Amino acid sequence: KQAALKKYFSRMNEMQQEAVFTVNGPVLVLAGAGSGKTTVIVNRIANLINFGNAYFDTSREGSSDDIAFFRDYAEGKTDDFDTLRDTVAVDPVRPWNILAITFTNKAAGELKERLSAMLGEEALNIHASTFHSACVRILRSEIEALGYGKDFTIYDSDDSQRMIKNVMGELDVSEKQLAPKAVLSEISFAKDKMITPAEMRADAGQDYRKKMISKLYALYQERMRAANALDFDDILVFTVELFEQFPEVLEKYRNRFRYIMVDEYQDTNHVQFKLVSLLSGGHRNLCVVGDDDQSIYKFRGANIENILGFEEQFEGAKVIRLEQNYRSTQTILNAANSVISHNNSRKPKTLWTSGEQGDKVYWYKAVDETDEAKFVADTILASYKETGKYSANAVLYRMNAQSNSIERMLVKCGIPYRVYGGMRFYDRKEIKDVTSYLSFINNHNDMLRFRRIINEPKRGIGDSTLAVIEDISRDLKISPFEVMKNCEEYAPLSKKVTALKNAYQMFEMLTEKSEELPLDEFLDLLLDKTGYLDSLKTLENADTKIENVQELRTSMVQYMEQAEEPTLGGFLEEVALYTEADRDDGSDDKVTLMTIHSAKGLEYDNIFVIGMDDGIFPSSRCFDSEDDMEEERRLAYVAITRAKKRLYLTNARQRMLFGQTQHNVTSRFMKEIGSELVEKHDNAAALKQQLEAADKSVTEVRSATLQQQLARTKKAAAAPKEAITYTPGEKVSHSIFGEGVIVSVKPMANDSMLEIAFDKVGTKKIMANYAKLKKL
Ligand code: ATP
Ligand code: MG
Repeated sequence: KQAALKKYFSRMNEMQQEAVFTVNGPVLVLAGAGSGKTTVIVNRIANLINFGNAYFDTSREGSSDDIAFFRDYAEGKTDDFDTLRDTVAVDPVRPWNILAITFTNKAAGELKERLSAMLGEEALNIHASTFHSACVRILRSEIEALGYGKDFTIYDSDDSQRMIKNVMGELDVSEKQLAPKAVLSEISFAKDKMITPAEMRADAGQDYRKKMISKLYALYQERMRAANALDFDDILVFTVELFEQFPEVLEKYRNRFRYIMVDEYQDTNHVQFKLVSLLSGGHRNLCVVGDDDQSIYKFRGANIENILGFEEQFEGAKVIRLEQNYRSTQTILNAANSVISHNNSRKPKTLWTSGEQGDKVYWYKAVDETDEAKFVADTILASYKETGKYSANAVLYRMNAQSNSIERMLVKCGIPYRVYGGMRFYDRKEIKDVTSYLSFINNHNDMLRFRRIINEPKRGIGDSTLAVIEDISRDLKISPFEVMKNCEEYAPLSKKVTALKNAYQMFEMLTEKSEELPLDEFLDLLLDKTGYLDSLKTLENADTKIENVQELRTSMVQYMEQAEEPTLGGFLEEVALYTEADRDDGSDDKVTLMTIHSAKGLEYDNIFVIGMDDGIFPSSRCFDSEDDMEEERRLAYVAITRAKKRLYLTNARQRMLFGQTQHNVTSRFMKEIGSELVEKHDNAAALKQQLEAADKSVTEVRSATLQQQLARTKKAAAAPKEAITYTPGEKVSHSIFGEGVIVSVKPMANDSMLEIAFDKVGTKKIMANYAKLKKL
């Protein structure tokens, strides 16, 4: 019988199978990158649902017919899975009894997809989500116990920042005295430790700054409560409080989530640990997987002790280690192993693969950031030529700002790409405005959003009127919506009665319609009746802004398609909990650009890690602290282990970043990779040699002179050989995209942007000097 089951999970190795079949009690899978931890979670859920306790239930061997059947199945004589399932399954676990926590909503979606492939429709009922989504779902039904309304609004970090600024204004704390960001981060830190404002105050003693922050914290919470709003930390903290204060509620969820699994456990924080402990407290069916070498969120409160102390916290835990890697070549693994071995505080482990050795790590030492970007683009084009795919490539960097030079080059070369990070789509002003309208209609107490849109576009309701509305609303404990409704009753508003009544009627009508119309139609109505769309039309870059709003409509339609019961509140929740890594990869074939932090858990054939300069990666901020340096090294380990086939590391002799020219030395992490694993290509040295060959003595070409020379050489290289001119209608051939016809020519600086309709790949915009074009 065991053999029959093993056959079903035959792709898993021995250790993975052990994790899959250890159904009850606490389990920790502590293992390196690419060793199949996430894969274990998927298979473990499939096992729970298909077979339940089957594996260990020797008491129910079944009839001899059954045993004969198992043997046949194990030996491959039959593939009748349904019979296998019917005869083996003991107490199969129902899908809704499983809670699987992942790091992003996208990862949760992928998990469900893989489960659907194994289980069919049943997979839809598995609760797979992030900590935040899971808690929001619980709070939506239970939060009233804590004195909040069920239709609470979620504030993202931008909203929280506005809120803390308001609160600081109220308490006359200037932004010079205390930076709002710093205050927020201390509040967040306190919340993570479950410290209340009163406790913070008591703890502050005579520390003036701390006392001040505790006051701000208290008022912040008060205002949040009045607005019926929760920030990201509240979502987790309130759920823990709910469970601690109302044991019957906890009991309900313990009965519901009988099997709990957590991916990327090394990056959980204290509140998340509490949640998991509380929820699994009765049945103790908790399985966590993670890699202490990939803990990279300490700066956000992640506590590596959660994973290292698991055996003590969950007595009798079974610990399973996986060492075989299924993702990368041996060379890439050796590189990862050698870098991470420089960390002192770690449990030693080594990854190996039965796969091939693979190519050496490619180190490109560029002249500057443009040269670096050109290398990346050229290499991607070459791989595209071979594979016909862009999406097999990802460019990783330490900071969002670094994407800039790469982006410009990819645009020039006509390479499609997608950036994760930077400005989130939902953070753009026009999108925030529209979602603020939606939020206020959904929650009339949402003062922050009300304030944002009430005079956007102008309705004659300025700051001083707004201040009066806020006072009345606070003193009478009524919503701004109510204040507008009864505005004639309040003397200070007498001059504004018409404007306020008009606004009130508009919002009332929209609130009513929001309950009647399908969401997308409602959005159209809102954009029209509020005058917002018209106001966009008068702005600079109007087209882009309107396009963005249309894009919001698209996400709304997508939401309506996948939600069981689409509601405005549900859509807003999705918007609020959306993280950059959730962005749909779609079927589009694009290169991915992102920070190393957001690459966690992902894999690509070709990985480029740019900016391997000391000061950038590792960041100069961690030069003084051994702990921070170790966290940075773990980040390097994460970066390297994303690569399946080829790893490219690049640095530059000189680079422009944040508007300044820097001269950095090569990253220490680069040097920590054994030189036998690396193939070095020094373009900077090659250029220097060229200069020397041109009869310059080495001493002459130093520092400044060298820079000038290099710049000139580069300019010559980049300049159009012969300014070739193109005209619309001309036929050309591109080395990669094939043949096409020029649609338009737009001169730009000392280059031109060509729009070319290619026969095979459609229309693309390409810079003439960079494109490898031939006239036909
Ligand atoms: P990370 O630490 O980066 O999150 P991980 O340990 O979660 O990695 P997975 O993403 O589960 O690793 O697996 C890495 C790759 O190996 C995936 O492509 C997966 O399909 C493959 N894989 C996992 N287990 C096996 C196996 N037993 N046989 C073949 N391939 C496997
Ligand atoms: Mg994983």
